[in-house]
Amino acid sequence: MSEQEKSFTDWGKKALSQSENGKRIIISETVDSYKSKGFTADETLEILGANDVNNYNLIQSAVDAAYGRTASVETNQVRESYIIPAKYSEIKNLVEAQLNELGPKEFMNKLARSKNPIMPVNDKAFNSYLRLASNALSDKSSMSQLHDGLKKWFEEAIFVSHCAAKSTKNEIRVASVNGKYVATNERGASCEVCLDSGTCTCAKFANSHYADFGLACEHVVAAADKVSPHQRLLKAVREAKVQDSNTTKNSFSFQDLRTVVRS
Ligand SMILES: [Zn+2]
Repeated sequence: MSEQEKSFTDWGKKALSQSENGKRIIISETVDSYKSKGFTADETLEILGANDVNNYNLIQSAVDAAYGRTASVETNQVRESYIIPAKYSEIKNLVEAQLNELGPKEFMNKLARSKNPIMPVNDKAFNSYLRLASNALSDKSSMSQLHDGLKKWFEEAIFVSHCAAKSTKNEIRVASVNGKYVATNERGASCEVCLDSGTCTCAKFANSHYADFGLACEHVVAAADKVSPHQRLLKAVREAKVQDSNTTKNSFSFQDLRTVVRS
């Protein structure tokens, strides 16, 4: 990796670590690297959890996902509404469903020949993806080869949305209006975000068919970042109450409050 690439990666990681969803990307990458080194789910959780107690719940969800464990109760609760994808494996099934529904030709057109394509590939690459997509319908190993090929394009789209949501150049401001969110940039252009369905009215979202592939644009990411501290606060208060009823001391200490704010 060149110095320039390294510094871009460092910058990206720093930008990501400043948002809840960005943290999920970094954590799930770290969990994957522990898994590939042969650590068990419990070992990975113990090591990462001990080093980063503030993000314990995020780490636990990432470990559950990476090792295919039954999701924790907390994850099930969160999964009731739309979740911003942090990696390709989280939207893989949607991508496969699109291929089954549309057939290979239309599937590839939607991915690579739309107005603002997720995969801006040349004709040669298009045709080889098309062959792979055709074979994938009846052949499992072609399907996994196809997923390997698509992964980098989707993860780039995910990365770009997360970085754009945090970028000071875009200056996305989010306001809550009648249960929906309106995201406005510094030029005054605005779009409407629905977090329940994970959709946005911006051109990129429509032109790149983000809804069909489960992807989030920067406005959805920015809106989700805006509400998550509130949801986490409510959840932490619920947890504190449970702890409270489990202990003989009837106390809600300063330490609890500090954990609530920081977690
Ligand atoms: Zn948008």
